[in-house]
Amino acid sequence: MTAIIYWFRNDLRLHDNPAFEKACCLAEQDRCELVPVYCHATEQTTRWAFPRTGPHRRHFVSTAVAGLSEAITSAGSRLIELTGPCAEALPALARSLGAERIVCETIAAPEEEDEVAALRQAGITVDEVWQSTLLEPGTLPFASKDLPDVFTEFRRAVEKAAIRPRRALAGRDRLPPLPTGLMHSRTSKSIPSVTPDPRSAFPCSRPEFHGSESAAIAHLRRYMARQLPHSYKSTRNKLAGIDDSSKFSPWLAVGALSAPQIHAHLVTFEAEHGASESSYWLWFELLWRDYFRLLQRKYGRRLFRASGLKGNASPPHDTSAFERWRCGQTGHALTDAGMRELAATGYISNRMRQIVASYLIHELGCDWRAGAAWFESCLIDFDICSNQGNWLYIAGYGTDPRGGRRFNPDKQAAEHDPDGNYRALWSAP
Ligand code: FAD
Repeated sequence: MTAIIYWFRNDLRLHDNPAFEKACCLAEQDRCELVPVYCHATEQTTRWAFPRTGPHRRHFVSTAVAGLSEAITSAGSRLIELTGPCAEALPALARSLGAERIVCETIAAPEEEDEVAALRQAGITVDEVWQSTLLEPGTLPFASKDLPDVFTEFRRAVEKAAIRPRRALAGRDRLPPLPTGLMHSRTSKSIPSVTPDPRSAFPCSRPEFHGSESAAIAHLRRYMARQLPHSYKSTRNKLAGIDDSSKFSPWLAVGALSAPQIHAHLVTFEAEHGASESSYWLWFELLWRDYFRLLQRKYGRRLFRASGLKGNASPPHDTSAFERWRCGQTGHALTDAGMRELAATGYISNRMRQIVASYLIHELGCDWRAGAAWFESCLIDFDICSNQGNWLYIAGYGTDPRGGRRFNPDKQAAEHDPDGNYRALWSAP
């Protein structure tokens, strides 16, 4: 009896996980064992000289993996935790088990594609399943290569064709067996701690904001039960409150929650409490998430070139201005407040992300890729497609029809922080 390996990537959940379901079905069909695996990333330093994964993201991902591990144990199996690089750790495990097949979700981004290519090179059959969007690419009214470049055109085409998400799948109570030799191996890693900050809009040190699937589902249920979709549109641009926006992004990023699960809860909410322009806006924002994922499928590595999609000149850079920005010491009070919140908590609102990104690119004349790398290090909801896509958009190196977004920082402060409360809250680290 050979084993099948299921490789959890950014899909750390047992419910509504079509790729994992496929692996379970294959194992049952072939009467073989199933080995659920997670590969922890090794520490890396970016080319901009800071750690690639900062403390908040490390903490959040660790809590997500711990939650997954507990859920798998409750279902009668065990999560095997390896430490990367995946291209070495997974083939070594496969060899030790005599396994020839790995099932995993597809991630349309260069490094993740390289990982899969390396596994195939090592002689492993890799079955990939696309599952990270709200809408299945095959149901869209255009081929991937014909995705409209402008978001509004994409949204209108999807809405005109009345495309709906797939149904969210239930989870399994019992999982296929693990090879007996692995049942008692001790592989789990300890959770690195973070310093709690009472000002945080996503207090990830509190158990209800841990990355596990159970915390994600509890948050989703609470969000709907408190009828927050009805106030979402009017509060989403505020700067600091926990309830101002949905806070789904950290769980979506690690895959503790899927977009179709959110949609299913939203549909139930609207059936019970009525649909509103505000509840519609959650769908609208989830379409932005899909759009950036689909752009990656369309353009792939071209999105990562220094010249961007339009073949612009390479962006300028100013190392000392970048360091001042990173440390919240530019002298612009709102920008500095945002950068302090980001470093202290691993989360900032969408509005603050736009303001600080625009400030770095358009006021300080720095390379947007350095800013994107700092966000990657800090954000607990870091997602390669949404991060890369938004930074490119603001820089004008992507698909923004207006050729970039420059936000007047003083106007933004007057409009979004008229009493200076946010600046006062984050006036010190
Ligand atoms: P809500 O306002 O409640 O939105 C609901 C969901 O819609 C979000 O969870 C998210 O999945 C999606 N969404 C909302 N706005 C966007 C958007 N502009 N682009 C893509 N999806 C969106 N989001 C990430 O998830 N990871 C990132 O690494 C990331 N980096 C960003 C970098 C910059 C420079 C900017 C301007 C935005 C970035 N965003 C990123 C998008 C957005 O800021 C966050 O998704 C949002 O603030 C998360 O909070 P929320 O879940 O409460 O959002």
